[in-house]
Amino acid sequence: MADVPRRFVRAPSEDERQALVGLRDAGPAAARTRALVVLLSATRVPVPEIMRRLGLSRPTVTHWLRRFERAGVAGLADRPRSGRPARISAESLRHIAMVVGARPRDLGILGTRWSLARLRQYLVQSGTVPTLSLESLRITLKRAGLTLTAARVGQIQKGVTTMIPGAFEYHSPTSLGEATALLSKLGDDAKVLSGGQSLIPLMKLRLATPRHLVDINALPGLAYVREEGGVLRIGGLTREADLEESDVVRRRYPLLLDTCKVIADPIVRNLATVGGNLAHGDPANDHPATMLALGAEVVAVGSGGERRIPIASFFTGPFSTALRRDEIVTEIRIPGPKPGSGGAYVKMERKVGDFATAAVAVQLTLAAGTCQEAGIGLTNVGSVPIKAVRAERALRGRRVDDAAIAEAARLAAEEADPAEDLRGSVEYKRDLVRVLTGRALRKAIERAQRGG
Ligand SMILES: Cc1cc2nc3c(=O)[nH]c(=O)nc-3n(C[C@H](O)[C@H](O)[C@H](O)COP(=O)(O)OP(=O)(O)OC[C@H]3O[C@@H](n4cnc5c(N)ncnc54)[C@H](O)[C@@H]3O)c2cc1C
Repeated sequence: MADVPRRFVRAPSEDERQALVGLRDAGPAAARTRALVVLLSATRVPVPEIMRRLGLSRPTVTHWLRRFERAGVAGLADRPRSGRPARISAESLRHIAMVVGARPRDLGILGTRWSLARLRQYLVQSGTVPTLSLESLRITLKRAGLTLTAARVGQIQKGVTTMIPGAFEYHSPTSLGEATALLSKLGDDAKVLSGGQSLIPLMKLRLATPRHLVDINALPGLAYVREEGGVLRIGGLTREADLEESDVVRRRYPLLLDTCKVIADPIVRNLATVGGNLAHGDPANDHPATMLALGAEVVAVGSGGERRIPIASFFTGPFSTALRRDEIVTEIRIPGPKPGSGGAYVKMERKVGDFATAAVAVQLTLAAGTCQEAGIGLTNVGSVPIKAVRAERALRGRRVDDAAIAEAARLAAEEADPAEDLRGSVEYKRDLVRVLTGRALRKAIERAQRGG
């Protein structure tokens, strides 16, 4: 089976079988799937059935069978990457921050303080990261502003830092002009506070340590949802719960309604704002993909006046956006749906209220069964939210039949750029994007054909 896969993988030796069972039952997420692929094939389960059971593509299944044929169980490990440090997903970073903020012995590890080696061992064994050199870990911690210094460990041991943010000065301006002037004066030392549902947890983990918080909750006139002149206008301070309750959203924007229903849980949605969800720049947040599919525009006001930023150029990197340091998101504008439009958001999450393993937003306009316009956004499968432009292009001008849907779904999966983490392997997530894109397209088509 060196190059052409036989029907089934060779029979593993007893040692190999034990190692495979060990990996399947207690290995990191990705290794579990790979071991299962081999064990299934060794018990004469055909490749198409393995694909069906595990939700994997044929290339993924045959790839791991080949690797096992060539190198045994060792072939199922990730190959060490040389050169640039391993890419760590936003989710893994959050987990690392939590681990660093705890004492090793609280996590069942011997010792009261983390060394780099001990931390690496824990992260790899717990499946938080697949493999990681000490140097990559050091760089990752540095970039995230996390330290394992004696001072920090000492503070943690006294229980001072883990859940208490650093000291900050609190400002509560009552006009937009006052708020932008404050932000302009305070510069990089200040952060806007709206719902606090992302910022406060980051501050508690000391991943954000602003010296000034500019609370914009007292600014008047920034919470509304209304359609005007063929455009849906959502105020920057609109809470997710109010978006969900909005009559116009319920009637005319199914993609938005799908999205806000699956963001976190009702308690978070009562506080979290739409502006904050975008301004945070987290590729795991749900609104970015939705807004990419809808072709939204972000209105930002700063000391230099108002800017309208097309959503396609808003996300500039992980947790970073095109916003200037003194700018506040005041409104999100979404073009009203043309006749024959429909949309859908399909999210795979490990449990209700979780961030997406992957999610896909689709907005389509159809005329007589042919796609006139297509928008597709992908959540949590890249360092930024992804606009699947090749998949969109493949749909435009084409009848939306099974072949077109399959082609667009395949292209969207190719455009995804996921990182392996606790939620799954790169292969799994890519294939998940293919499946979710197909589902979202079918739902959007059905809605477009029934009139929204
Ligand atoms: C338990 C839990 C589960 C979650 N699950 C999900 C989920 O499934 N999907 C999802 O999408 N999100 C989820 N989130 C994240 C959260 O919903 C969003 O990130 C949140 O909506 C951010 O909005 P906020 O108003 O709370 O922003 P804040 O936390 O106040 O601010 C976030 C960032 O944006 C900046 N900012 C906020 N508002 C503005 C503005 N108007 N102009 C300029 N900058 C601004 C802040 O300075 C800060 O940097 C979850 C959060 C929690 C606590």
